[in-house]
Amino acid sequence: MIVIDSTARANLKVFESRLGHHLFVADGSRIFDIEQAVAETLTAMLDEESSAVWQRLGLAGSPVGRWIDGRVPLPPPPRSLSLNVAQTCNLGCGYCYADGGKFGGAPRMMDYAVAKNAVDLLFDGADAGTDLVIGFMGGEPLIARTLMANVAKYATRRGAVLGHDVRFSVTTNGTLLTDDDAELLCAYPFAVQMSLDGPSLLHDAQRPAKSGRGSYEQAMRGLERLTRHQRPRQLTARATITRQTGELLPVLDHLIGLPFDDVGFALAIAAPPEYAIGPNDFPRVLEDMVRCGRKSLSEMRSGRTYPFSNFLTAMEQIHRGTHRPYPCGAGAAYLSVNAQGRVYACHRTVDDRSFAMGDLKAGLDHAARRRLLEHNNVDRAEPCRSCWARYLCGGGCYHEVAKRGRPGCDYIRGWLEFCLQAYVELSTAKLQGHANLIPSTTRIISGTHHV
Ligand code: SF4
Ligand code: SF4
Repeated sequence: MIVIDSTARANLKVFESRLGHHLFVADGSRIFDIEQAVAETLTAMLDEESSAVWQRLGLAGSPVGRWIDGRVPLPPPPRSLSLNVAQTCNLGCGYCYADGGKFGGAPRMMDYAVAKNAVDLLFDGADAGTDLVIGFMGGEPLIARTLMANVAKYATRRGAVLGHDVRFSVTTNGTLLTDDDAELLCAYPFAVQMSLDGPSLLHDAQRPAKSGRGSYEQAMRGLERLTRHQRPRQLTARATITRQTGELLPVLDHLIGLPFDDVGFALAIAAPPEYAIGPNDFPRVLEDMVRCGRKSLSEMRSGRTYPFSNFLTAMEQIHRGTHRPYPCGAGAAYLSVNAQGRVYACHRTVDDRSFAMGDLKAGLDHAARRRLLEHNNVDRAEPCRSCWARYLCGGGCYHEVAKRGRPGCDYIRGWLEFCLQAYVELSTAKLQGHANLIPSTTRIISGTHHV
């Protein structure tokens, strides 16, 4: 039987914004405006049973009750598959989770027969008419550019015959990108994610070539090729934040000044100690993230674009009332295939037996997928099941939790609390005197659900 922590602390978060006091209800990620006296009463009641709190507020049986039942879903048919086409890399970034794509083994390349079987597995299991995504990962996937082109051609043709819209994604360091690559990435519907850690000095220190030379200049040449004639369908930058990164806002300003659609940060958690963000670093990183979030907020309020994807994603999730019991689709609708055709939960867990999910010959291991979903459901996992942030956080990346546990929970909750405050402010902000940025209809406000 699932026993979900039923104290109010696990289900409610009282918070303040510039506009007043608010209550976040984890179940359904709902936000209520409340009066100060109610905020104080609720704060004093957080250790009581949730049901007792509902009773005392006269809300038992109201829409504040559970919308999520904690049941573990059956693994769905995969809709997204990443192919580790080149388990090797031309760079030597010290923090790389993939050991330069080798994942602790020998360098390897995927051959076309394996890639074609993987694409067939995706099509064969797909529900009629669903959109499918094929990702190219490494190492550096552009080392396998001919394979990528052949797979894009084959999957597009099969998709057209079978009635699936097929899109592609690639994560690249950009340094090897040729004019022909740019043509390929623009000819097919590709989402291109470039790994860039900031201005040249910082980027070169964190992302050197194997020779020791910096890679910033080459990456900029790749970016220029990608944007010269036609842009890919989506072009984003991802910066890895390590304990050596320093202040985050100048990094974000620099990357947002480049021609990307959006820019996101990923914290190095499962990395060697000289790079990994550790318990002593999280408070500083949180302060810096909030500074970046505030800049995003103020730019948006002034009607300007400042596409910081960590902030925008959080705004979108809160706006939709997200309640996700997992951090991502790994092992469920998303899987990853290594160069030899073995299947893993995702691109970071490649070659790790504890995340093995079958292989292309024998088929998917549905029991292993089901075990992964059971084990990691936020209503079952400790300490997530008693955390108010669980349906926004999802319980943390499986790879990081397996390597490092959950050292950043206070950081995650701090960031999400800031995002809740920012959301309330944005949802009432008038943009250039015209409309609210976020329609207030989705925000439950005093008068309709006044607590
Ligand atoms: S990983 Fe931490 S912050 Fe996220 S849901 Fe679990 S306990 Fe909460
Ligand atoms: S387990 Fe971690 S690395 Fe893998 S897809 Fe999920 S969040 Fe990403």
